[in-house]
Amino acid sequence: MATAGKVIKCKAAVAWEPNKPLVIEDIEVAPPQANEVRIKIVATGVCHTDLYHLFEGMHKDGFPAVLGHEGAGIVESVGPGVSEFQPGDRVIPLFISQCRECRFCKSPKTNQCEKGWAADHYDVMALADSRFTCKGKKVLQFMGTSTFSEYTVMNQIAVAKIDPAAPLDKVCLLGCGVCTGFGAAVNTAKVEPGSTCAVFGLGAVGLAAVMGCKFAGAKRIFAVDTNPEKAEKARVFGATDFVNPKDYNKPISKVLAEMTNGGVDYSLECVGNVDVMRSALESCMKGWGVSVVVGWTDKHDFSARPIQLIAGRTWKGTLFGGFKSKDGVPQMVKAYMERKVKLDEFITHNMTLTQVNEAIELMKRGGCIRTVLSVSRQ
Ligand code: NAD
Ligand code: ZN
Repeated sequence: MATAGKVIKCKAAVAWEPNKPLVIEDIEVAPPQANEVRIKIVATGVCHTDLYHLFEGMHKDGFPAVLGHEGAGIVESVGPGVSEFQPGDRVIPLFISQCRECRFCKSPKTNQCEKGWAADHYDVMALADSRFTCKGKKVLQFMGTSTFSEYTVMNQIAVAKIDPAAPLDKVCLLGCGVCTGFGAAVNTAKVEPGSTCAVFGLGAVGLAAVMGCKFAGAKRIFAVDTNPEKAEKARVFGATDFVNPKDYNKPISKVLAEMTNGGVDYSLECVGNVDVMRSALESCMKGWGVSVVVGWTDKHDFSARPIQLIAGRTWKGTLFGGFKSKDGVPQMVKAYMERKVKLDEFITHNMTLTQVNEAIELMKRGGCIRTVLSVSRQ
């Protein structure tokens, strides 16, 4: 590789400050250090968590940064000590690592890992260290990944090697949204055959949760969204009913309780809104209902009456759908290649990296499910 061992100058979308459009800049990407892999990003999805950092979280210490965490690419070069990857490998960068050595990785109870950015940088949502510079300044790697860049550098504990035949412009969605929603239903809620489910919020994460409920054998799946245009897509992924909270003048939890003789067995919040999290909990059946918080927010407290839990409901959260990342992502790629899970149906728009602000505005308006940006040629 002509570029191995050298600094690469390439295009990236830099978020210089919160609440401002991203700027396409020439950045410098340093060669991979020990145990690191430099990756040419081929395609990336735009996820609501990118918008969260830019417009909602707005933690000023988390800027400047290169956003994007739902990408797929090809290994360009590897640093000393990397034995698992070679140039040319097809990979998906992972926003949660799997070192296989820490107490979390060794426990089957969790998919957290002690070694990635998520271990102690939740507030700024980035690694303390970065291989990016632009105009003489250090630029942070959002969620440790930064897929809105032609090249990125990742520690090998946060990279999954995938089937070389998999189309990168589709399987990139497994880097976040689809694994998160699908796993929330299958791994975290542990939806059972014959059960009744409700999914709140029908972006890619929520639609993947609908797909997970169906995959697990749920018999009735309520898809809940304030945007009526989401109804049709929800059916594609297996929803049996669409409910718009705006169509009722009583709480949506009451509406669902009436439709289900008391409440659903499982509810999943895929919006990132604390009021919706409470509604999702209250929509569950007492005695055994399980509600999973999937939507991302670290801005507000939530509240609920203790009696909701005393009466036997369980309230849980999920990060990346509970998948141990290095193990789970290649398995989900395989499931897609064997047509056991859908991916193409999530993609409503295809654009290029230079159109990233357009893609962000489209998601803000609720005009897309997923936009996939093509980042560099294969
Ligand atoms: P999205 O913006 O595409 O979808 C959100 C959906 O929620 C939209 O369809 C919107 O119409 C709907 N909505 C808004 N307000 C609502 C309300 N009051 N009731 C019902 N529906 C409502 O977002 P996405 O990319 O699918 O992400 C969804 C959430 O999941 C975000 O909060 C994101 O940050 C989070 N997320 C979490 C993880 C994790 O690991 N837990 C990973 C990825 C994304
Ligand atoms: Zn995401």
